[in-house]
Amino acid sequence: MKAEIDINRIIIVGGGTAGWMATCYLQRFLSRVDSKITLIESPSIETIGVGEATLPTIVRFLRNMGFDEQEFMRECKATYKLGINFHNWVRKDHNYWHPFGVCGSIIDGIDLFHFWINAGRQSNESYSDYSLQAQIAENGKAPNFKEDVSKIIENGAYAYHLDAGEFANYLKGKAVSSGVEHVFADVDEVSLNSEGAIDYLTTKEGNKYEADLYIDCTGFHGRLISEAMKVAFIDWSEYLLCNKAVALSFEKNSKMNANTNSVALEAGWSWQIPLSDRLGCGYVYSSDHKNETEALDELMDLMSDEYVLSDEPKNLTIPVGHRSQFWKGNCLSLGLAGGFLEPLESTGIHLIQYGIETFMDYFPDRKFDTSLTSAYNKKMTSAYEESRDFLMLHYYLSQREDTEFWNDCRSTKQPVSLEALLNLYDESGVIETMTTRAFPATSYFHILSGGERYPRRPLAMTNVSDLTKVNQIMLSIKERNLVLTEQSPDHKMLIDLINS
Ligand SMILES: Cc1cc2nc3c(=O)[nH]c(=O)nc-3n(C[C@H](O)[C@H](O)[C@H](O)COP(=O)(O)OP(=O)(O)OC[C@H]3O[C@@H](n4cnc5c(N)ncnc54)[C@H](O)[C@@H]3O)c2cc1C
Repeated sequence: MKAEIDINRIIIVGGGTAGWMATCYLQRFLSRVDSKITLIESPSIETIGVGEATLPTIVRFLRNMGFDEQEFMRECKATYKLGINFHNWVRKDHNYWHPFGVCGSIIDGIDLFHFWINAGRQSNESYSDYSLQAQIAENGKAPNFKEDVSKIIENGAYAYHLDAGEFANYLKGKAVSSGVEHVFADVDEVSLNSEGAIDYLTTKEGNKYEADLYIDCTGFHGRLISEAMKVAFIDWSEYLLCNKAVALSFEKNSKMNANTNSVALEAGWSWQIPLSDRLGCGYVYSSDHKNETEALDELMDLMSDEYVLSDEPKNLTIPVGHRSQFWKGNCLSLGLAGGFLEPLESTGIHLIQYGIETFMDYFPDRKFDTSLTSAYNKKMTSAYEESRDFLMLHYYLSQREDTEFWNDCRSTKQPVSLEALLNLYDESGVIETMTTRAFPATSYFHILSGGERYPRRPLAMTNVSDLTKVNQIMLSIKERNLVLTEQSPDHKMLIDLINS
């Protein structure tokens, strides 16, 4: 039996990453239904133009869309991303990894972390020493061959760095060629009906657009969800102190490892993201601790002279938090219109995707039953809260006392959810994660052990395993990773080949 869908007209407002991802997704999944999708994009308001690192969930998005990986990589100036290398976060000259994928192997049904707590930690090795992704990235290698598919690719345990503007253009090309109507106009007025739902939109030119469902992808403005539907913004600045960013671009550099670098600075942190034609870079900081000029100076000091600036610095204000309702009546908000968390773990694009996929689970009819909207809003709120807690963890674990910023980070308000997560981990080594699938327990183990926070004892179940055998397995994982890393091609060479 086919699902009956009576949402015949959908209007998406906003032509950034959120707008075009939603458009492609809906176009593909509603292709057998008589629905018409229109995207209205302002010719005068720019997209945010940043958002260069992704999470492994994007692999599912691209595969579900049926896109060719190498075509996508060429057009979006993409490189592979196997994780993040955190420098100076715990203390100066300290370094740790958050690689993607299973770390080493699951042994007797248990994450290797719990055995590492017993054996490896004593011998001064890191949990991430067992990660193939970390080894490959650290050695400047790629997770794939041009023709052959590696296990990492097969499992989708990787992500990409990409050019945000090119990504939106790529998606636009795909959407428009599959029949989506694309209108360049400024939505000027949002008219509501007597029940408070959106009736129609009027553009600056005076054209009227009417639909059953409206999706607000207008960025921080939230032109529909906030200005028209009056949905409040829940401010999280008491939890995460960074509220400004400066973004830069540097000319192509000879180094190109398959990871993001995150360097803790005096009042925040800097990202360095290798793309096929340039290096994306920026500083996310707290305006209570640095002004724009000081932030730019500190960032430029960090970059060595071999990097040549290719663009003017872009200063941004970043409101941290989310809408109290992501979906109200016939208006859904996605991307920055719905909420924002600083890009420390590349959650932006992931949360757009999670928002669309979850919306498809609860796809409404024209009644817009409140059971759907409340279930959706509950799930999205949990996803944002879980991501917020994960980001906060990075700051909490810092032992830096060299600036006021780092001291202030440790004394920010702690959400009950994060406190509970830490208490359980300290006592048992167990991590309970839930909704988004973005950060499995393994990710927490990397951040927690990287930040030198360990459980009081290994997981009780590790006592059941034959530890001699486990030690042999752990040794063989390291040997296997060494061989696989040696066999893998050079990352820069592979990217050049894909672009040739
Ligand atoms: C400093 C920084 C770094 C980031 N880094 C990452 C990262 O590494 N990884 C990641 O996943 N995410 C990152 N993000 C988040 C990411 O940039 C966004 O999630 C993503 O780009 C989605 O943006 P958007 O489409 O919601 O909004 P925007 O890009 O702002 O697009 C808004 C669109 O709405 C249109 N519009 C606005 N008003 C109207 C109107 N009245 N009528 C018609 N059209 C209108 C505009 O013209 C534009 O097309 C970062 C964000 C910041 C601020």
